[in-house]
Amino acid sequence: MNLVLDEVARQLQREFVLIWVDGGSPDVFVLTSPERVVTVWSTRHLELSAAFRALLVDDAWSAVRVELAERLVLKVVAELSLREGDSEVAAKSLLGAVVGQQLSIGDSDVMADLDVADPARMDEAYMALWFMGLAHEFGHGLPAAAHQTGALSDEEILRGVREGLESMSAAPTFPFQPGEVVSAAARDPAHPLHPGHVRGEVVADVFGVSVVLQATVDLMARVGARQPDPLRLIAELLLSTSVVSCIERCKRLAQTASAGGQTQDALLRQLVQPAAFHVRSTFVQESLARSLASFSGDTDLERWRSLVAEVVEAFLPATRAIDTGLAGAMRFAYDPAVPADRLLEQLRAQRANDATFGLARAQARSFCALAASRRGQSRTLDAVVELLG
Ligand SMILES: [Zn+2]
Repeated sequence: MNLVLDEVARQLQREFVLIWVDGGSPDVFVLTSPERVVTVWSTRHLELSAAFRALLVDDAWSAVRVELAERLVLKVVAELSLREGDSEVAAKSLLGAVVGQQLSIGDSDVMADLDVADPARMDEAYMALWFMGLAHEFGHGLPAAAHQTGALSDEEILRGVREGLESMSAAPTFPFQPGEVVSAAARDPAHPLHPGHVRGEVVADVFGVSVVLQATVDLMARVGARQPDPLRLIAELLLSTSVVSCIERCKRLAQTASAGGQTQDALLRQLVQPAAFHVRSTFVQESLARSLASFSGDTDLERWRSLVAEVVEAFLPATRAIDTGLAGAMRFAYDPAVPADRLLEQLRAQRANDATFGLARAQARSFCALAASRRGQSRTLDAVVELLG
């Protein structure tokens, strides 16, 4: 941890504070003032990041990845919606996450693997998972003035966004015109594909990757059982930026679904978000290739670029499955016709089946702890807490 914070201090060159919350809402966020950057980070965010990572890397899940991703997203949205203040959306999302679930990635199992006390066992996976979300958030505290140049100009970003949209629109499930989305994004600063917003995320991603890469190399050189492995570094750093973006999309979904603005246009804005990730990923890949070329002493940049591209290719089926799951969760959260009463009935029926009901309760544990203070605000929420709490 200290190595990471030292590296943040070196690269951020601003005063900063870290506030660590045990449990709580699954969130990491940054508050920036002219004097300092304050980042708040919860252990629950770390647990859910570990679950997303497991879903991306573990091939045991490949057949059920879409369903598990949809359920995991709804669970995160449910927990975040409690804080956003919409108890009804929270309860509905939680029902969508747990009703009828047969399989799960246990939060505590994935954490047990990663809760390493021995520094010699802190490897690429450990460092990327633990610290990318945090380092990314600190990256949002970089001075804004330096950004709008060259490859990060509005035009370049919108070009990348269009490219991302075009590759998405090949799928029949995305009924939109890339050109229309690009002009809507260029006009409206609240649009998730607005170049100002995408640029902020690119800068934070590149900063996060740079900090975590340096800290991992330093740590493993000092106390590691082996040297850092370039391929693992590439894979883990790319994975962890995907995880950061997944949770950010959950957060946006919780905010917009809670605002009561569940319109077609708002849903479309949710669905096009992978285009922003396309742009972010392009920048992260390039900066990773450059950093590795300078770290390793092997300055053949083309070789590093193609290694990075190979890793991206290898994870493509998993990333696509997660995107599909996210889209499913978005449609569910935005569907005004989701019958909460019928889902509650199903859940009551599940009580007769110990195994699946036990799973539902385990999945809802953190949610119910957060929901305890919100009793009486929504009939559905009260029923959920009564059944699962
Ligand atoms: Zn961010």
